[in-house]
Amino acid sequence: MSLAFVAALLLGLMLKTWLSSRQIRHVMQHRSAVPAAFAATVPLEAHQKAADYTVVRSRFGLLNLAFSSAILLGWTLLGGLDLLNAWIYEATAQRFGPMAYQLSLLIAFVLIGSLLDLPWELYNTFNIEQRFGFNRLTWKLYLNDALKGMVVGLVIGLPIAALILWLMGAAGRFWWLWAWGTWMGFNLLILVLYPTVIAPLFNKFEPLPDEALKNRVEGLMARCGFAAKGLFVMDGSRRSAHGNAYFTGFGPAKRVVFFDTLLARLNGPEVEAVLAHELGHFKHKHVLKRMVTMFAISLAGFALLGWLSSQPGFYLAFAVRPNMAAPNDALALLLFMLVVPVFGFFFTPLGSLMSRRDEFQADAYACTHARGSDLASALLKLHEDNAGTLTPDPVFARFYYSHPPASERLGAILSQATR
Ligand SMILES: [Zn+2]
Repeated sequence: MSLAFVAALLLGLMLKTWLSSRQIRHVMQHRSAVPAAFAATVPLEAHQKAADYTVVRSRFGLLNLAFSSAILLGWTLLGGLDLLNAWIYEATAQRFGPMAYQLSLLIAFVLIGSLLDLPWELYNTFNIEQRFGFNRLTWKLYLNDALKGMVVGLVIGLPIAALILWLMGAAGRFWWLWAWGTWMGFNLLILVLYPTVIAPLFNKFEPLPDEALKNRVEGLMARCGFAAKGLFVMDGSRRSAHGNAYFTGFGPAKRVVFFDTLLARLNGPEVEAVLAHELGHFKHKHVLKRMVTMFAISLAGFALLGWLSSQPGFYLAFAVRPNMAAPNDALALLLFMLVVPVFGFFFTPLGSLMSRRDEFQADAYACTHARGSDLASALLKLHEDNAGTLTPDPVFARFYYSHPPASERLGAILSQATR
């Protein structure tokens, strides 16, 4: 098992490095001129900013990749998790019992992981995003967010972790089915809690004040047969200049949220077209399909975990000595979360492909319920505001891109709009 792990890790590293180097090279090669199709609409300055932003982030990603791979090896084959476990076990198991020991192990692992990630996150926010004019976070807001995030994580994460650990120990051979059901219920609960309780802790949501825009949006939703419980504007500009719009929640919590940064940049017809695209995702049942896929994948994941956690070889392969006098469920969870993504990475292109197909469908829907030319100009503005490159490496884009490259996407929209 450890051999397959090392092989997958190395292969993944080589693949990621190869893809990123291709992307950097391709973007640099096309930095000097705006592609012909965009020459009239995108200024050279914006094109070069996008190229530089892409290259800086790709290089940063490569450094981070080297670091996180070393940490992963440290946790697993080099005995880090075993060491942490021995220490937490010693400190908690006798005195506070098996559940407290297991939860302490999870908390300690998450804390250490967050501390290791912290310098990278800070550099990304306060150096890269800052340099390109996207960051709006102040230190005060950053610390405030971090504290709140920690409290929310504890309040929500600890009970669900405790429940799943308890099921692992008490629900018999098919505990993984019960745990899966619990996990799915938890996800549905979050879908309701996120827009109504969690997101408002971090951002202000106000009803859309612009009457003309409101009428326009409500007209579109009526035409598409879509009922949402509210239209909201979120103060996304507090943290970042990147713009966005989204739907969230379901049932009574369903709502449309516009970032203020998006409304500041797009005119009424463009906002309508972007929203029509989002409605397209709903009408084509993409959201439902994604949820069902996620449910199926996690069922397979829990079944695999159910099998692995009962194999001593699973622990020993990653240099972890299973506990003799306490449950190993928290250990199994952590090992599983460390090891499985190494193998899961190879499925990335499949997920990207399905996602891009959905985007084309949503665009086509938007073109029939709003104006294609408005969608095209909105996408181009958002692309420019997010400094997305117009000249990605084709192989890189096929592998990673959840949205079609701008040229393909606009090409499809405009061909439909002029038909
Ligand atoms: Zn979309």
